[in-house]
Formats: sequence, C-alpha cells, structure tokens
Amino acid sequence: MEVIKSTEEIESLNFNSPFALVPTMGNLHEGHLSLVKYGIENYSEVIVSIYINPLQFGKNEDFSTYPKTISQDIQLLETLGCNYLFIPEKNFAENLEIIEPKFSDVLCGLSRPFHFHGVLTIINKFLRIIKPNACLFGLKDYQQQLIIKEFVKRKKIKTDIVSLPIVREKSGLAMSSRNNYLSDEDKKFCGKIYSCLKNLAASLKKKPLGVLKIEAINFLQHAGFEIDYLEIVDANNLSSVTKKTNKILIAVAAIYKKVRLIDNIVVSL
Ligand code: AMP
Repeated sequence: MEVIKSTEEIESLNFNSPFALVPTMGNLHEGHLSLVKYGIENYSEVIVSIYINPLQFGKNEDFSTYPKTISQDIQLLETLGCNYLFIPEKNFAENLEIIEPKFSDVLCGLSRPFHFHGVLTIINKFLRIIKPNACLFGLKDYQQQLIIKEFVKRKKIKTDIVSLPIVREKSGLAMSSRNNYLSDEDKKFCGKIYSCLKNLAASLKKKPLGVLKIEAINFLQHAGFEIDYLEIVDANNLSSVTKKTNKILIAVAAIYKKVRLIDNIVVSL
C-alpha cells in the first residue's frame, strides 16, 4: 500500500479505473473495514483517507482527544490489500469556502449546527482533487450520506455515492470509534439502543408514530440514556412522514456516560 501525505502528490497520481475512495477519520474498526472490503471486491483500486476533519467538530466536542491509532490502521489496511492511504497535510482544511448542506437542520444537525457544513466542505475537496468513480459511506451516518448524495447530484459531480450497511457489535451496538470510550460491559448494555429501534420498527403499523416515539424515548431514558433525539421521518428527505412516504428512517442519538451514540433503521413500506 502506498501512503500519500500531500495533496499535490495525490492529485498527480493516475489511478486504475474504476477506483473508489473511502473517507475516514481513522481508528479503523470492522465498520470502516467493511467499506474497504466492498471497495476491493468491486473496484480496481481503493484509496482510504484518514483525516480528523477539524471543520466538523463543535467547540466542546472531542476533536483534540479523538482516538488516533495510525500504525494499527496502516497494518489493517495492508492486510486487506488496500492500494493507497491518503493522510492529508495539517493545513488541508484551511482557506476553504464552507459549503451549505441541504437536510442539515434536523437530527444531528440540530445539536451539531455546523457539523455537516464541515463534513461536506472536506468531502467536496476530496472529490475534486481525487475524482474517484465511487465514494463509499456507511449507513450508520445516514444523514451524512443523504446530504452528500444530494450535493453530488445537485453539483453534477461524476462520483457514485455508495451507501453500505451498518456493522454492529455482538450486542447490536453500531460500531464506532467513539465506542472506545466505553468498557466492554457498557458496549453490551448499549445494545439496548438497537433493540429499541428494532421494537419500534416492528410496531410501525400498530400504533401512531407519535406514541411509538414517546414510548421509545421513555424506554431509553429509563434504561439510563440521555436522549439527544429520537425521530421517525421520511428516509428520502428527513421531513415528516406523509401518505407518500415509501421509506421510513428511525434515527436516534443517545448519550451514555458522556459518549454520544447514533444509530438508525430504515424500513421500506
Ligand atoms: P468515520 O471515521 O467515523 O468518519 O467513518 C468513516 C466512514 O465509515 C463513514 O462513511 C461511516 O459511516 C462509516 N462507518 C462508521 N462506522 C460504521 C459502521 N458501524 N458500519 C458501517 N459503516 C460505518
């Protein structure tokens, strides 16, 4: 695997088409690796980027303490057979025009107001300098992939945005670098988030959505979670469910022992 540490160098490379980019913030786990494996199976070459994007962190968030495990990450990627690793220079996020996302005034965008502006600004730079045929994302960050898909379509950028399934711990907890802040026992306990989403999904036709939402919030609060949000929305545009809705997104952000955990389920009607 070739490790590239400058924008100039990555711009000058000729990749074998079709090639896929997997943007990450590192501290790689099975969730990230599932994207890399998909890339290796379906494209001629795969580039992974590792960049802890300062633009997507709020003032009181964990930018400075975000887990960093670069040598371990390199080993994991080498073992999988990844072709390139791009680690941008420190000033990569400087002097960029901040991009205004759509669908960012709900769910995670409410408690993290400029998060998606930061994500989109950096992803746009990646797409413009690397020009991949495909860019691979996890459905764990449902709102993120929806925002990027909408932007790429609107700007007619010639990259396919491919969204791939959520990889979970045995307990059902969605894998995340932030799970490192939790003990094994905590991770087992936090499987309750996914059980709650599954129960809600199974009851969609049995009770009004408003009732289901309150019941789910009560369940998680009683279990010991602080709820940032739990919403049942139209998966196509994150707005209220209507008669026309053909796909429902049940999304949650819950805080356990100060760790913010997100998860979701999509149900086709
Ligand atoms: P991050 O390093 O958190 O920015 O994540 C990089 C990419 O990995 C994003 O597209 C995430 O959605 C994806 N990802 C993170 N966790 C998971 C997971 N548990 N399952 C699937 N994809 C994931």
